[in-house]
Amino acid sequence: MKIGVLALQGDFDAHRRRLEELGAEVVLVKKPEQLDGIAGLVIPGGESSTFLKLLGEDGVAKLKDFVHAKPTFGTCAGAILLATEVENPKQAGLGALDITVRRNAYGRQADSSIREGQFLNDPIEMVFIRAPRIERVGKDVEVVATEGRDPVMVRKGKTLAATFHPELSDDPRIHRYFLDLVSNGKRG
Ligand code: GLN
Repeated sequence: MKIGVLALQGDFDAHRRRLEELGAEVVLVKKPEQLDGIAGLVIPGGESSTFLKLLGEDGVAKLKDFVHAKPTFGTCAGAILLATEVENPKQAGLGALDITVRRNAYGRQADSSIREGQFLNDPIEMVFIRAPRIERVGKDVEVVATEGRDPVMVRKGKTLAATFHPELSDDPRIHRYFLDLVSNGKRG
């Protein structure tokens, strides 16, 4: 199974390693054309406004088509890109998940932290780095992980977004969950 990792900027290599450990064949996507040959895509953390700039208008259009049609997992900046609405400041979203996210929502002091959250009702370590907060979850979007009272990972069909960085924890469960979605199309 070929899984793409958007490799324009940010921590794409940690995703590559984790996905390869789990048996996926990984394509580092640097050009929009590479989206054609993959079964699913991971959009890593980084700076969402920089992704939009680097992609340019054509790249954004191509990525938008992909994320509306194929399994995609966005983490942190990637989650911001998948949203319908982005605040602080307002920014274009690809609209694959009906959520509102607020960028850099935890302020300077708490901008990076490791916390314990719940993933499918089991405890799991979560690494947050200048994380966005999911402020609104649309009615057909399922919350699959929480931290305190906050939804931190959501899913609709085969589209997944997490505000934390599962690639930085030594735990394969989240990536395995995504690979399962890609391969068996579990829709819940
Ligand atoms: N603060 C970044 C943004 O707004 C996201 C941070 C991250 O991906 N670690 O795009």
